[in-house]
Amino acid sequence: MFEKQIFIPSAEELVAERPLPESLKKIKQERDKLCEDVITGKSDKLLVIVGPCSAHESAPVLEYMRRLGRLNERVKDKLVIVPRIYTNKPRTRGVGYKGMFSQPDPENKENILAGIRAIRDLHLRAIEVSGLSAADEMLYPENYAYMEDLLTYVAVGARSSENQLHRLVSSGIETPVGIKNTTGGSIQVLLNSVFAAQSPQVFKYHNWQVQTQGNPYAHCVLRGRVDKSGNDVPNYHYETVMNVLAGYEKANGELKYPVIIIDTNHSNSGKQCRQQIRIVNEVMQNRSFDTGFRRIVKGFMIESFLVEGNQQHDVVFGKSITDPCLGWEDSERLILDIAERA
Ligand code: PEP
Ligand code: MN
Repeated sequence: MFEKQIFIPSAEELVAERPLPESLKKIKQERDKLCEDVITGKSDKLLVIVGPCSAHESAPVLEYMRRLGRLNERVKDKLVIVPRIYTNKPRTRGVGYKGMFSQPDPENKENILAGIRAIRDLHLRAIEVSGLSAADEMLYPENYAYMEDLLTYVAVGARSSENQLHRLVSSGIETPVGIKNTTGGSIQVLLNSVFAAQSPQVFKYHNWQVQTQGNPYAHCVLRGRVDKSGNDVPNYHYETVMNVLAGYEKANGELKYPVIIIDTNHSNSGKQCRQQIRIVNEVMQNRSFDTGFRRIVKGFMIESFLVEGNQQHDVVFGKSITDPCLGWEDSERLILDIAERA
């Protein structure tokens, strides 16, 4: 039984309600190119996808974006900063806060139509205040259509990355798509998903049979894994990275642009958010030690917000209500440090 609650208009209608102005369209196109050039190796800047685990409220996210926009001016010669504005949250056990998409007010019940409007509004205002177009997680592939004109980077999460529809929709996206390893951690499964996303595909999308060209910018994100006993096991170390590189090389040209982004939180940090500083340091160390490692590791995904840690309910302004995040001062220092060593 599916009780009909709220009718959701098509993506065309909701995009037309709040379109991306021409001036911002230009920013978004330039930023897509910057990001793409890191993946293809045309640019040797590092990609830093950084921001809160979830964007649960617009005001603190916009304040974060203002600061990130200013910081970007100091590091843009070395880094391509892509803010995380994640409005769809997967949950380990499937229940709980599912992001601004479902709950534009985290303390109130679901309203997906208001959620879609709130997300478009937030992403648009974020570009306005910072000059930076963002990343979001594609948790529900059909909803990409409501967002596709706004995003410079799309993430496929650990619980989605072996899913057929995520892989097929990724193949039609024209910006870089970062695919995470599954929680089980298989590198082969991850490379299979990257292959699927890089390949042309025919499938049903909205009311159409569609044909895609394949997304050459699809790549790997290592987020750590969870073992049989439920313990977090990191996978940002030298050995795993070199295994992924060997996997790309074994594919004999079937996989384009070998790229790994290291997710410094989640099962890599055991959600100990301050460990992200140490993990970035280790990875930067390995980059300077080994040219293969340097060639494939092209950036970081960092969970960061105004205030360190997390909270159950939205009481403290700018503190995560999902995974614990680094606070602003530490994040700023860390980003400056990456830029200095890039
Ligand atoms: C996230 O990036 O916040 C997230 C949910 O990650 P993962 O899919 O790796 O658990
Ligand atoms: Mn998270």
